[in-house]
Amino acid sequence: MNTSFDPRRVSAAADELAGRVIAITGASDGIGRAVAFECARHGAAVILLGRNQRKLESVREQIEAATPKGGEATVAVLDLEHALAADYDRLADAVLERFGRLDGLLHNAGLLGILAPIEHYDVPTWCRVMHVNLTAAFALTQVLLPALKRSPDASILFTSSGVGRRAKAYWGAYAVTKFGVEALTQLLAAELEGISPVRVNAINPGPVRTRMRRQAYPAENPESLPLPETLTSVYLALLGPASRGVTGMSFDAQPPPGTAP
Ligand code: NDP
Repeated sequence: MNTSFDPRRVSAAADELAGRVIAITGASDGIGRAVAFECARHGAAVILLGRNQRKLESVREQIEAATPKGGEATVAVLDLEHALAADYDRLADAVLERFGRLDGLLHNAGLLGILAPIEHYDVPTWCRVMHVNLTAAFALTQVLLPALKRSPDASILFTSSGVGRRAKAYWGAYAVTKFGVEALTQLLAAELEGISPVRVNAINPGPVRTRMRRQAYPAENPESLPLPETLTSVYLALLGPASRGVTGMSFDAQPPPGTAP
């Protein structure tokens, strides 16, 4: 396996993702929306997964307007907090029926929950965050694996966080789910390596100017943070052919503070 791969050093060709079908959760906003745009711009047919049909339709229209040469986007409504087994099955059936396979799956949707000490952490919030950030990502992966296995070069990418590697006080369920995401990445990669071309990696976007970041750091100047659009090349490298053969790894989209890019 290639362990020196650095997705920050990859620049994608204009047609890098041509012919690929890539599903993205949380495609209605923030990082997921930006990655969906960039995947479509590089030739992929993107499946926009999310809970808000109106927001997703608007992203779809914007993608189709911005990528007149065949940028294809499909909306699939799946509320990761409330979806039942039948909803997951319907989605998997629809993907197979429409595309016959899946080449990329980005687990990007996430909930911050609350920042609070464990001693006082609200239990229902804990359960929601665990479910959306971790259990739903597991369930979606499981149901889409048959479609991913039909691709000659499929990539599953989970979204981690700095607090998923080194926990910080008060980050509660969110931090625990991101540790879980790192574990799930390693587990699944180990299970698939050698028996399937499906690769499995994780990415920590680092601080990004989105709604979730504002919620976590309301006093921070958003202008000091990169926009999601500036980080999409790393996602493309991990979802597309550049990362073939790389699996079980966890990457950073941004260099650690104080280091040269
Ligand atoms: P945003 O809050 O901007 O976007 C979150 C996305 O998740 C939205 O599309 C939202 O949908 C979707 N979502 C939330 N709940 C559900 C649900 N129940 N079902 C389906 N979709 C849902 O956050 P970011 O773009 O910042 O975050 C993207 C990922 O990056 C997350 O996994 C986050 O943990 C991670 N991350 C972000 C960092 C940052 O600084 N921004 C730092 C480290 C990690 P809707 O539009 O309907 O609300």
